[in-house]
Amino acid sequence: NNQKKKQTIEGLELLTKFYHYLLTTAKYGTPGMHYLESRGFNEEMIERFQIGYAVDSWDVVTKFLQKRGIRLELMEQAGMIKKRGFDDKYFDRFRNRIIFPIFNMAGKTVAFGGRTLGDEKPKYLNSPESDAFHKGQILYGFHLARQAIRKSSQVVLLEGYVDVIRAHQAGVLNSVASMGTSLTEAQASALTRIADTIIICYDSDTAGVEASFRAAEMLQGNGKIIKIANMPEGFDPDDYIRKFGGERFKSDVIGASQTLMTFKMNYLRRKRNLSDEGDRLLYIEEVLKEMTSLTRAVERDHYLHLLSEEFSVSLDSLKKQLHQMSVTKQ
Ligand code: ATP
Ligand code: MN
Ligand code: MN
Ligand code: MN
Repeated sequence: NNQKKKQTIEGLELLTKFYHYLLTTAKYGTPGMHYLESRGFNEEMIERFQIGYAVDSWDVVTKFLQKRGIRLELMEQAGMIKKRGFDDKYFDRFRNRIIFPIFNMAGKTVAFGGRTLGDEKPKYLNSPESDAFHKGQILYGFHLARQAIRKSSQVVLLEGYVDVIRAHQAGVLNSVASMGTSLTEAQASALTRIADTIIICYDSDTAGVEASFRAAEMLQGNGKIIKIANMPEGFDPDDYIRKFGGERFKSDVIGASQTLMTFKMNYLRRKRNLSDEGDRLLYIEEVLKEMTSLTRAVERDHYLHLLSEEFSVSLDSLKKQLHQMSVTKQ
């Protein structure tokens, strides 16, 4: 089994080089290169992340693997090739896609993410789970970000491959991605082990915001500082940096990230019209409800003071109500 895993990774390492060769060779890679250029990715990033291109062919990869003597059934299990129904012949699974190698902590390729050049579905095709690849245990870009994370003791958690690559291109070298929106326990503990501050910067859509809350709740309670960054509605880090530049991303997004409770308060605030009396009361209730999950007395006190001052409500009555809500919650 270990031998099998080793051979699989050897095959995937070879394919990383092959896809990258295809991308960077004009004869094959022009469509992929045009796509990456149109999105503004530079050569340095293409090298650092070993980005590749799967040409629009049914058998280029299959033939390459055969020629190199790689065991095809291993590559089938790793999701690189598939068998045709009618004659059991192998064909390539990734075709006409940008290829993002997914590295393990040691920097070896254990899977690929393949993106269409247009808006065909599915936008991303990923390697399936295998002996070599447990998606929930990988943080994309980790081995490239490790040094910067250690040095700053901060890690920036993003959603997608291109967000990480764009962030690195902008000089935010301590960023990694959970590859989709739900953070796993394994990813969470890798993050809390290596950094004191974790800044979550997921896509600014409903799914992303809700996933940020879940991730923050999962990460908190280790004595670490968990913050959530805030971007204009609809943006992801890649969109943001392309539109406003890396410096503004650093100062206005990463630099202005907020603790979970403050972030929640702002989120709830935006849903309400606080010049309306009814909305004000509802807002206070909602905030208190969120506060029931705060475990530290100092934290509770801090936010109670903020509410009390902003809405001219006595600290006493806020405390009473919070206490009541905490009791009924149990
Ligand atoms: P792009 O900017 O190229 O559209 P993105 O990273 O913004 O890419 P999202 O839709 O925000 O794309 O998805 C974030 C991440 O979620 C992707 O990088 C990928 O890891 C994962 N993902 C998205 N769609 C799929 C899919 N259909 N299958 C598997 N994983 C996916
Ligand atoms: Mn190269
Ligand atoms: Mn996105
Ligand atoms: Mn995007």
